[in-house]
Amino acid sequence: MSNPADSTNLMEAIVSLAKRRGFIYPSSEIYGGLNGFFDYGPLGSELKKNIRDCWWNDMVRRRDDVVGLESSIIMHPKVWEASGHVAGFSDPLVDCKVSKNRYRADQLFFAPVVIDGKTVAYVSALESEKTTEELQAAAELYKRKKAIVGTLAPVQPKDFTEATETEIPLIPSPGTGEPGSLTAPRAFNMMFQTNVGAMSDASSVAYLRPETAQGMFVDFKNVIDTTRVKLPFGIAQIGKSFRNEITPRNFIFRSREFEQMEMEYFIHEDADWSKCHQEWIEWCRQWLLSIGLPEAKLSLYAHKKEKLAFYSKGTTDIMFEYPFGVQELWGIAARGSYDLTQHGIASGKPQEMFDETTKKKFVPHVIEPAVGVDRILLAVLCAAYAVEDVTDEKGNTEQRTVLRLSPRIAPVKVAVLPLIKNKELLVARAKDLYTKLKRKYAVQYDDGGAIGKRYRRQDEAGTPWCVTIDFDTIEKPGDTFTLRERDTMKQTRITEAELFKLLDEQVY
Ligand code: ATP
Repeated sequence: MSNPADSTNLMEAIVSLAKRRGFIYPSSEIYGGLNGFFDYGPLGSELKKNIRDCWWNDMVRRRDDVVGLESSIIMHPKVWEASGHVAGFSDPLVDCKVSKNRYRADQLFFAPVVIDGKTVAYVSALESEKTTEELQAAAELYKRKKAIVGTLAPVQPKDFTEATETEIPLIPSPGTGEPGSLTAPRAFNMMFQTNVGAMSDASSVAYLRPETAQGMFVDFKNVIDTTRVKLPFGIAQIGKSFRNEITPRNFIFRSREFEQMEMEYFIHEDADWSKCHQEWIEWCRQWLLSIGLPEAKLSLYAHKKEKLAFYSKGTTDIMFEYPFGVQELWGIAARGSYDLTQHGIASGKPQEMFDETTKKKFVPHVIEPAVGVDRILLAVLCAAYAVEDVTDEKGNTEQRTVLRLSPRIAPVKVAVLPLIKNKELLVARAKDLYTKLKRKYAVQYDDGGAIGKRYRRQDEAGTPWCVTIDFDTIEKPGDTFTLRERDTMKQTRITEAELFKLLDEQVY
């Protein structure tokens, strides 16, 4: 196979495994697919559910200061006016009038071709790990093709939002390779519109939510009036969000329908927001480690003060090193009291709390950790995927593909394998164990083919353990099975009680 160390090949290998093993399919594939939409197959939906469940258990059930919420996807359109999404939830869009391709201006890069200090042309490239190299190569090619003598300066890439009016007509479109067809960037609102009710006019316009967060702000009063929460406390939600992304790409990294896990942590207006912000950044980082992401692939990026929204006190992203580059995985924002204040003004119902000590009303501030389930799932697949040479006892070497998924999130926790399928006692013991395990865990029963083949099948699915019911199980005392460990491929003997204990400790 191709060398998976190469990042493009690695992504291709992961996409292909995801399809082949039923993790992720393109949406509506029999009709040619729909760009930016995906379906999760049998293994993928289990993996996704496990990620969601781990987050919910750790964030909501195991904490005394966070409660859950499930708000509707379509909310009153005034929610999105108050939040600023109707006016400002947009990306800069650039059209190519010839190829009809559309680009996000901040993902379209260009550079002047400077020879002996003079700009002779422009080159362009789409954002990637190698944008600068591609622009440099394009500049060199231009010089060679036009047979221009002189010294070519190293390219200085800028993104298209920085292009001046005079530069825009000179920058080649990535769609045609020729200049003259790119438009100036314009704001493109990413919210999907729909109509509620039988009338399809301006009065019935509504939006599919582009984030789950507003549900927590709009229900803030309901939660404090119906529960016993006291500051500081959080409201958490998991659910679908929709964004009409101009350029969905990198598989499920940027899609148009995705799932978010967001939590709004409300604090007193005088509380130490910076300390709370730091604590949540560390909590999120630790949580990612707990589901098996390697520490070396995680990093933090603190947004520059001058790029923050006027109300924001600070935003730090937890970045993950995907094969296509280091990208945002989880954003942790300190949003001040902006959202509650906005909804207070727009609804005419102040979103305030009463301070018993000062006897004054105040609007709480908020820390918001917001993450995409799909981005976590992709990070998990990328980190877990490995192709390695294995040598059996006879000295034969072959390659195996393995997903080293944490037992916390692996879609199948354990596979039950009867060594052969025509020995009644052996099969009965295997079925008995399978039935018992099934009550608590996602388990597979597999009796098809040679045992080595069955192990490989489970390796690719990321199953941490296989138990083989063999002749020793039924013939020797102790009622033990062979436990085969996915990562080390080590085999030991284990009893039923020990197996349940192992699962109980590792799957939580
Ligand atoms: P980006 O800059 O990558 O577009 P963002 O800063 O707009 O992301 P937020 O609005 O902060 O993202 O959303 C919170 C989280 O939701 C992100 O950190 C990411 O994990 C996830 N997310 C956002 N947009 C998408 C998308 N189009 N597809 C998948 N996940 C997404």
